[in-house]
Amino acid sequence: MKILSIALQKNGTLLAADFEVIEAAKALGGELHTAVLAEHAEPLAKKLAQRGGGKVLAVSNPAAKDFHDEIYAKVVSELVKKHGIDLVLCPATTYGKALIARLAGANGGRAASDATGLKADGDSVVVTRPTYGGNVLASVQAGGGPFFVSVRPKIFNESKDGAGEVVIENVDPSAFEGKAVIKEVKVEAAATQNLAEADVIVAAGRGIKGPENVAIVQDLAGSLNGAFGASRAIVDAGWVEYKHQVGQTGRTVNPKLYVAVGISGAIQHLVGMQTSKTIVAVNKDKDAPIFNIATYGIVGDLFEIVPAMTKKFKAELGA
Ligand SMILES: Cc1cc2nc3c(=O)[nH]c(=O)nc-3n(C[C@H](O)[C@H](O)[C@H](O)COP(=O)(O)OP(=O)(O)OC[C@H]3O[C@@H](n4cnc5c(N)ncnc54)[C@H](O)[C@@H]3O)c2cc1C
Repeated sequence: MKILSIALQKNGTLLAADFEVIEAAKALGGELHTAVLAEHAEPLAKKLAQRGGGKVLAVSNPAAKDFHDEIYAKVVSELVKKHGIDLVLCPATTYGKALIARLAGANGGRAASDATGLKADGDSVVVTRPTYGGNVLASVQAGGGPFFVSVRPKIFNESKDGAGEVVIENVDPSAFEGKAVIKEVKVEAAATQNLAEADVIVAAGRGIKGPENVAIVQDLAGSLNGAFGASRAIVDAGWVEYKHQVGQTGRTVNPKLYVAVGISGAIQHLVGMQTSKTIVAVNKDKDAPIFNIATYGIVGDLFEIVPAMTKKFKAELGA
């Protein structure tokens, strides 16, 4: 089986999820290629090769500087054809999911999104992925052409080493022309941790009562060097931005530690975070559904408990 893992750099930097996809690909035991698209892809390709990316295809072009799903899909489609690829893997980030959908559309429609498990089966692969709001784990297999799969971040370890060599790819210039043009990329003023990448997430729900109390939960996140998440209730209320939303219509996250503060545990929230390794819930209602999936539950008033936790973590961790 010929496998192509796609490393999706952001601002010229590779993400942990790129190396996780390589690890997932290595475990399948096929012939591994990795592709990286960037304005200057070679230095990134070298890093990927040092960490087990196999034959690393470096595609450099100014139009590949920022993620552009149309252009990226055209370039990867060319690589798939040229190298006779059977399986394409990429991180199930916002960009990765967009890319996989386009690639499948352009190459026969075989796709599986948000894989949590991959198993080789002769010349093909069986993908495990959550469906029906995470209540069913489906096994998906495809034959008769390339299969496009996005892999959920933080399921696999990062590849640290292994075989690798850099190959400079010259792709037809027409592939770098898209109907849409990226005119400007605005970087957020304050650096906020990406939810998909975070090992620790502290999330707030309607129990915080109002936007003036968001900082109480953000302080706890800061004391743990974690990212800040939110339920849809407080996003819809306009207390925090959508990018923090966890759940069915927000981000799917999988951190080592998820702290839910004043969140009831509606199914639409749970499907976005229930695979977190350790879940701590703070809620004043002992019957709140969040306690059904929590590893540790704290029943009480968040306005007393959360500041006390923050104080303790700041003292212990110095964050
Ligand atoms: C199609 C669809 C998609 C959706 N997608 C999402 C999604 O992606 N993400 C999402 O989160 N929701 C989503 N929802 C909404 C979801 O159904 C819930 O309405 C929402 O998750 C509730 O948010 P919450 O837990 O913050 O609020 P609530 O359900 O109101 O819970 C607030 C909790 O705070 C506790 N509390 C109150 N005061 C305190 C205190 N002083 N100390 C401690 N605890 C306190 C209460 O006991 C309660 O359990 C979706 C709904 C639909 C229909």
